Amino acid sequence: MLILSGKPVFGGIAKGKLFYFQQDENEVTKRLIKDTERELKRFEAAKEYALAELEELYTTALEKVGENEAGIFIIHKMLLADESFIRSIVSRISDDHFSADYAVAQTARDLAQSFQKMSSDYIKSRAADLKDVCDRLIRHIQNKDEKRIELTEKVILCADDLMPSETLQIDLSMVLGIVTCYGSSNSHTAILARTMNIPAIIGIGAEKLSMLRGMEAIIDGYDGELYIDPDEKTLKRLARLEEEEAKKRELLKRFKGRKNVTLDGTEIQVFANIAGLNDLNYALENDAGGIGLYRSEFLYLGRNSVPDEEEQFYNYRQVVERMGGRKVVIRTMDAGADKNIKYFGLAKEENPALGVRSIRLCLMRPEMFKTQLRALYRASVYGQLAIMLPLITDIEEVRQAKALIEEAKAQLRAKNQPFREDVKVGIMIETPAAVILSDELAAEVDFFSIGTNDLEQYVLAFDRQNLMLESYFENRTHRALLKFIDITCRNAHKHGIPVSICGELGADLTLTEDFLKLGIDALSVTPSQVLPLRQRIRTVKLEECRQLPGAKAHAGVT
Ligand code: PEP
Ligand code: MG
Repeated sequence: MLILSGKPVFGGIAKGKLFYFQQDENEVTKRLIKDTERELKRFEAAKEYALAELEELYTTALEKVGENEAGIFIIHKMLLADESFIRSIVSRISDDHFSADYAVAQTARDLAQSFQKMSSDYIKSRAADLKDVCDRLIRHIQNKDEKRIELTEKVILCADDLMPSETLQIDLSMVLGIVTCYGSSNSHTAILARTMNIPAIIGIGAEKLSMLRGMEAIIDGYDGELYIDPDEKTLKRLARLEEEEAKKRELLKRFKGRKNVTLDGTEIQVFANIAGLNDLNYALENDAGGIGLYRSEFLYLGRNSVPDEEEQFYNYRQVVERMGGRKVVIRTMDAGADKNIKYFGLAKEENPALGVRSIRLCLMRPEMFKTQLRALYRASVYGQLAIMLPLITDIEEVRQAKALIEEAKAQLRAKNQPFREDVKVGIMIETPAAVILSDELAAEVDFFSIGTNDLEQYVLAFDRQNLMLESYFENRTHRALLKFIDITCRNAHKHGIPVSICGELGADLTLTEDFLKLGIDALSVTPSQVLPLRQRIRTVKLEECRQLPGAKAHAGVT
């Protein structure tokens, strides 16, 4: 028996065969093909897609960064249209019978070598452009966007790391558990695993996983251990553990249908976070008071184009209808960073977490944003829907978003499409700027929801994807973060609006008392955390005056 240790992401025991998913970023193997005509067509099609993508990148760059910087995409287009470059690829396909991707890779390798031999720095730098263009071509030839992981039996899914878009493409009903070498517990893949009750461990930290494919294993998602070829004693111990945990879960059911009140009678709302329609079942099973965060961007992930208004309307309508009048907070598309959407054709960024993401992206593409807004407003007549804007850093962003909301509503009116005028519009507080401006922001919106996953990373200069930093910041009741939450609560209440937490920290039962004492009105957590949280709230006694936990009274923070 071999034991590998990692960080637990979602408790539970899962036993099965290990399936290793290889993310072979542009891995090209030598393949000889018979049908050269067909292969040439594949190459031509890939070239067209790549050219269109570059055109879009150029237009966007022109608007945003000006002609100089945008010029790089013109160079890429010129490379892609270069006759000798194309001739070299075509002859490798027609004469050598190489597959299209291999022909591109070989041409790239030869040209890069001759570029490197030149003394001119300018030509050398073109080698990087050439690689970029060839990678783009290969990705299209290999149809990377449409790559699916086909699972024919139930397995424990292993990978070095998993992107949310990859996770979404998998038939998760075939996944018994998830184990990754890297990743972090705040990553969206970890959040997805938790939402879907999949036992998961991250940060096994070894490349060993790929060699263990096909072996029988058992995941202990409570302690973060993976047992390969487990012995009888371990199997029995883990079966007992699972039984005990199942009993605890059963006991928690008594909190269903009851109010969440502290010992001194303050009612606290407990909502669920979801990423799609499937998660609604978990939210309902756990009797969530509503949906505090619907991560709508997951509707945009794992596909090749933006979902149209009808598709979005139907999706949002189902969520509000199925929640039967309970509150549903739908966050507008929050893509970017680890939730990278390839068809947006965004240029590669050095720091995507600080880049073109979230509300910024929506404000840069107002037509796309208004499509989502129309769908949301149309769905509003079917229940209690609220709209939440992510990653706000300034009042101006809220005003711009509200102006687009007004345009979307006017478009609906013009078509006589019904919608509710009283839809609440709130914002996420997940940047230091939003906290510092929370006094003014509170005057503009109907509610705040604190996204601690991002707020933590921006306040503590802490990459939420970096596992190593998690142990560095083991003490997550970091004083700075609590001060930011304190400021937010004070300013929200000063303007009479409610404030919730919808980041992962909201489910940390050791912090519940601190959060409630700071004045948090509601918590929105992974569905499986709803009942434990409801139990915990009943043990909290709120004192008369709020104070910053572990500190003397905290004065004058607004
Ligand atoms: C957050 O940042 O805390 C949050 C809830 O949003 P996400 O995790 O989707 O970035
Ligand atoms: Mg966030």
